[in-house]
Amino acid sequence: MTVELICVGTELLLGNIVNTNAAFISEKCAMLGLSMYYQSVVGDNPGRLEHLLRMAKERSDVIILSGGLGPTQDDLTKETAAEVMGKTLVEDARAKNEIQEFLSKRGHDITENNWKQALVPEGCKVLYNANGTAPGIIMEDGDSRMILLPGPPNELIPMFEEQVYPYLHSLQPEIICSKMVKLCGIGESAAETKILDLINEQKNPTVAPYAKTGEVHLRITAKAENEKKAFAMIEPVEEILKQRFGDCVFTDDPQVTLEMAVAELLKKHRLTVTTAESCTGGLLAGRLINVSGISKQLQEGYITYSNEAKEKLLGVSHATLETYGAVSPQTAAEMAEGGAKAAGADVCIAVTGIAGPEGGTKEKPVGLVYMGCCLRGKVYTEKNFYSGSRSKIREYSVASALTLLRK
Ligand code: ATP
Ligand code: MG
Repeated sequence: MTVELICVGTELLLGNIVNTNAAFISEKCAMLGLSMYYQSVVGDNPGRLEHLLRMAKERSDVIILSGGLGPTQDDLTKETAAEVMGKTLVEDARAKNEIQEFLSKRGHDITENNWKQALVPEGCKVLYNANGTAPGIIMEDGDSRMILLPGPPNELIPMFEEQVYPYLHSLQPEIICSKMVKLCGIGESAAETKILDLINEQKNPTVAPYAKTGEVHLRITAKAENEKKAFAMIEPVEEILKQRFGDCVFTDDPQVTLEMAVAELLKKHRLTVTTAESCTGGLLAGRLINVSGISKQLQEGYITYSNEAKEKLLGVSHATLETYGAVSPQTAAEMAEGGAKAAGADVCIAVTGIAGPEGGTKEKPVGLVYMGCCLRGKVYTEKNFYSGSRSKIREYSVASALTLLRK
């Protein structure tokens, strides 16, 4: 079953209001397992709306419209939609009563144009509106269906939840379930390349990658009659993903973050950790401290932004800084070793790099970041290169440092 959304309103085209109705309706349709291939915004212009509706009627099973059901001259959605569906408008007695009641309760005078709102296409299902004067409408013509909803979100949302959602669910009693496999230590394109066959060949369930800073999330989505069947379809695909990505998979739980996975690992191996940060300036310790209960693993961390601080707090040698510079594998290694010693921790992760926008050179450009990791006296270093703004480079560095900790 395909569904198409048309939001009517010149103020949407001008950018005067944000199209929150589209976000709301799209999310609900996705939950219902309806395929939405088209969305459009059109001004309060009956000619252009009619053109769009005729096109939509050709290509989609259900057309949902938002806006333009008001009493004024420019509200023409109902008239135009009825014409496209070949229906004439007739007065609905209950709608007329409710409009009268709604307005008189609030002390508003009823004007002639209010009665326009009591007109509905013949044979349609009227969606009575407890929060405004415009009733919504569901009309059918053979296999075509149109659902007309008032623009104001405080009217549209309850009408959708209470009346439209059950109607749409009855058209396609399938539901959508999804599961997420989260990866680190691999880029989005490399991840996608590994599963191109699944992405291209699988229709149900589908697999789609989403990039987050330093992470890739793979969402597996299945459509089925019920949750049990959907998850039974998801499971074998999840297994394939776990096999293909091996150690890069850090969780299959949507609630688990990378820092939580790292904390879990440290706990499991009974390791204490400390941080020695230059360009990330505390961000890495901050990510770890997002995890409640980390105090047993992380007791202290160091922000050593200047060379002097690296010498004073971490014992990095003056000669190393002079010879190789602060952004070098040698400094990263000494920071990690010195941090572990100073804090008396099993592991120290060190980050030193050039976050920019100034300070880059030809040999050491902006985005060059070295990580150092000292695990019980053994030191590893890693060279990374990131592009983007200062804050992006710092965020990527933290994600890589956490990824390195997982190793
Ligand atoms: P009214 O009876 O208020 O005229 P209507 O059904 O004719 O209702 P519109 O005139 O199109 O709806 O819009 C009325 C108001 O509803 C807008 O000024 C705006 O505040 C809100 N609105 C309309 N469309 C949207 C949308 N797509 N997303 C968010 N808000 C919207
Ligand atoms: Mg209006």
